[in-house]
Amino acid sequence: MLEMKIPIVEIDGDEMTRVIWSMIKECLLKPFINLKTEYYDLSITERDRTDDQITKDAAEAIKKYGVGCKCATITPNADRVKEFGLKKQWPSPNGTIRGILDGTVFRNPIIMKNIPPFVRSWKKPIHIGRHAYGDIYKNIEILINEAGIAKICFTPENSEERITKEIHSFKGGGVVMGIHNTEKSIRSFARSCINYAISEKLPLWFATKDTISKTYHAYFRDIFNEEVKKNEDRLKEADVMYRYLLIDDAVAQVIKNEGGILWACMNYDGDVMSDMVAAGFGSLGMMTSVLVSPDGLFEYEAAHGTVTRHFREYQKGNPTSTNSVASIFAWTGAIGKRGQLDNNKNLTEFARKIEYSVKETIESGIMTKDLFLLADPKPDKYASTEEFIDAVAGKL
Ligand code: NAP
Ligand code: MG
Repeated sequence: MLEMKIPIVEIDGDEMTRVIWSMIKECLLKPFINLKTEYYDLSITERDRTDDQITKDAAEAIKKYGVGCKCATITPNADRVKEFGLKKQWPSPNGTIRGILDGTVFRNPIIMKNIPPFVRSWKKPIHIGRHAYGDIYKNIEILINEAGIAKICFTPENSEERITKEIHSFKGGGVVMGIHNTEKSIRSFARSCINYAISEKLPLWFATKDTISKTYHAYFRDIFNEEVKKNEDRLKEADVMYRYLLIDDAVAQVIKNEGGILWACMNYDGDVMSDMVAAGFGSLGMMTSVLVSPDGLFEYEAAHGTVTRHFREYQKGNPTSTNSVASIFAWTGAIGKRGQLDNNKNLTEFARKIEYSVKETIESGIMTKDLFLLADPKPDKYASTEEFIDAVAGKL
């Protein structure tokens, strides 16, 4: 039996992923390891019962222990409020946790030999780090229906010296938008990307459109350069290269490249490009995600949601074929990181063994339906949710 010294913060969730979560613990973890976790139940009913305090407590626990893994959770909308009789539409737990840890989300596809990516040149995962604050996601817009002048104006708190610039003199209808970002947020983003690149030993790419946006985008470029400079020794020691590009060049290079890079993206680029990369590699069920804070805290999860459609079938007692790989990798990511931080080689090795068992299982032709549809060669049949996890346990 493998021992752990310091616990992992375990954050349980909802629906099909909650079902998978407990299967992973029972079949892949508990038989081999004295699993030490500090457990937080973030199911929608518990968040409602505690007025969402449980979400904040879970984030604080990650601050204390450094490593967490999270099951997918429902972000309630009006229908969910009705379905569960909620007090209100609680905010997205991921948003709350990200706010408390001040982190950046990195997405990483898991690749198998027999699940060919749509892009032929891709051999290794393309990791995407998306800046998750500001730009058009905190915009102010005006729809203009008549002639007039739109201006941008900054009023300092402690002086009279306003800065005003004309945006456009409208002769008729049109639109204007104001966006912003902050030095603090951009710096945190840059530092999280540097930490992740060092932790995963990946070349770090960052791109903007600074040829057109000579102040706004250039500000991002300059802060990135400064943070890279400050971390020069750490980057060199880990043999991690930094490359700055123009965004259009980056897009073209990423398609031709074989992967194995961390692509740091401004907010909108990250939103769009992470979906492009996910689709290019195949299935949402193979996409993991990790939140990294600028001071080196890690929270691992699957990039997909609670797979509600499959859960409805499960509730009716029908068989399901839900891919558990991203949830398994949320656990192995956290266990591997715990081992790395605690100098517990056996723990890290155990995590890699589970990942290897997953790979062997899928590459031997045992897979869930989402992968079955993409596989080459195609196996005779696909596995149910339970059959797949049992097969991984068998290999393990
Ligand atoms: P979803 O859970 O990601 O599922 C969307 C569809 O993608 C599924 O119906 C399924 O397609 C496919 N899919 C996703 N994961 C899969 C897996 N592991 N195996 C096989 N197929 C998979 O997104 P959603 O249905 O839009 O959202 C459901 C709930 O999740 C919502 O309440 C939302 O708030 C929440 N959510 C949470 C997170 C998070 O916690 N990080 C993220 C996103 C959404 P088929 O139906 O075609 O098989
Ligand atoms: Mg998107």
